[in-house]
Amino acid sequence: MTTYRIGVLYGDGIGPEITKAALEVLKAAASQVDGVQFDLHELPMGWEAIEKYGDPIPQVTKDALKETHGWIMGPHDSAAYPPEFKVNRNPSGELRHYFDLYANIRPAKTMEGVPSIAEQADLVIFRENTEGYYCDRNMYVGAGEWHITPDVVVSAGVFTRKAIERIAHAAFKLAMRRRKKVTIVHKANVIKLGSGLFLNVCREVGKQYPEVRVDDFHIDAMAAHLVRRANFFDVIVTENMFGDILSDLAGELVGSLGLAPSINTNDDQAMAQAAHGSAPDIAGKNVANPIGIMMSTVMLLDWLAARYDDKHVQQVARTMENGIYTTVAEGVKTKDLGGSALTTEFTRAIVERIQR
Ligand code: ATP
Repeated sequence: MTTYRIGVLYGDGIGPEITKAALEVLKAAASQVDGVQFDLHELPMGWEAIEKYGDPIPQVTKDALKETHGWIMGPHDSAAYPPEFKVNRNPSGELRHYFDLYANIRPAKTMEGVPSIAEQADLVIFRENTEGYYCDRNMYVGAGEWHITPDVVVSAGVFTRKAIERIAHAAFKLAMRRRKKVTIVHKANVIKLGSGLFLNVCREVGKQYPEVRVDDFHIDAMAAHLVRRANFFDVIVTENMFGDILSDLAGELVGSLGLAPSINTNDDQAMAQAAHGSAPDIAGKNVANPIGIMMSTVMLLDWLAARYDDKHVQQVARTMENGIYTTVAEGVKTKDLGGSALTTEFTRAIVERIQR
């Protein structure tokens, strides 16, 4: 019996509701599979951590996460934190930086039973997570922005060969297991040096994967292409901010931002995290769609299965995934997908299908 130690960070807004829902489905799926168990550790993050430790992502949480195989992170409402916390990286930015979780992998796939703007799509966005135009990620000390005069601010983008090479390799490796196609997204016609380096290094890495077809688009054109023909794309690799924006667009195109999963990884650890935010407008109403964080948990399980070559954990992933897909295909859906099920009702329906 293999035991995986998994951290659980509930977060703010809809975080606790959807994270609890994901854990219920994980437990139901794990109980159907022999040879694997999950040791879940709840750790403070967000408002809860501010109240307890005076820090939305305290050192006790970071230290405890070092002892885990991976963790499930709810969204945080850092825009609402008191001003003293806004000068620091937000909790997910801090964990990505602290653990060097350089690859943010965000799939978008149309689902049976879910009305979507895109007729058909099955793509994966690789968002570089540690530098680029998200200037707060770029500094050893400081926020990567300088207030020169009251009316002038400089915000720094950083691009390094090392970071671009590793995200490009991650993208090309997955492409080899999919439809063998990578699209590089950049803005090298204007940001000639920074975005130019991103494009050139990705192309260089691509030469090591001769079976993979490579094309590239400027970020603005890419937004239009994604809306017009999402099914044309397979693996997309891009820098931090472009990846954040494109993945929200892709999430809506396949049905709802509430569906959009992600994991943040390096070679040794992984953090499951829905691509959406804490949705304060619907928090506490029991209407949030938990699929994003549930499918992020499935991605974490698949990552563990590959990392530890463990068929049992892969079976848990498939059980969870089938439970979610079957429930939606049979018409049980939350409000954002045109259904009427509350978060708890939807979660119970998945658990029942898994136990059937
Ligand atoms: P952040 O900056 O933290 O990513 P955001 O400003 O992008 O947050 P979200 O919190 O993601 O915003 O919410 C955007 C919209 O999508 C809101 O109207 C919200 O209610 C809706 N939304 C987000 N997540 C879900 C979900 N899981 N279920 C249903 N609706 C959601």
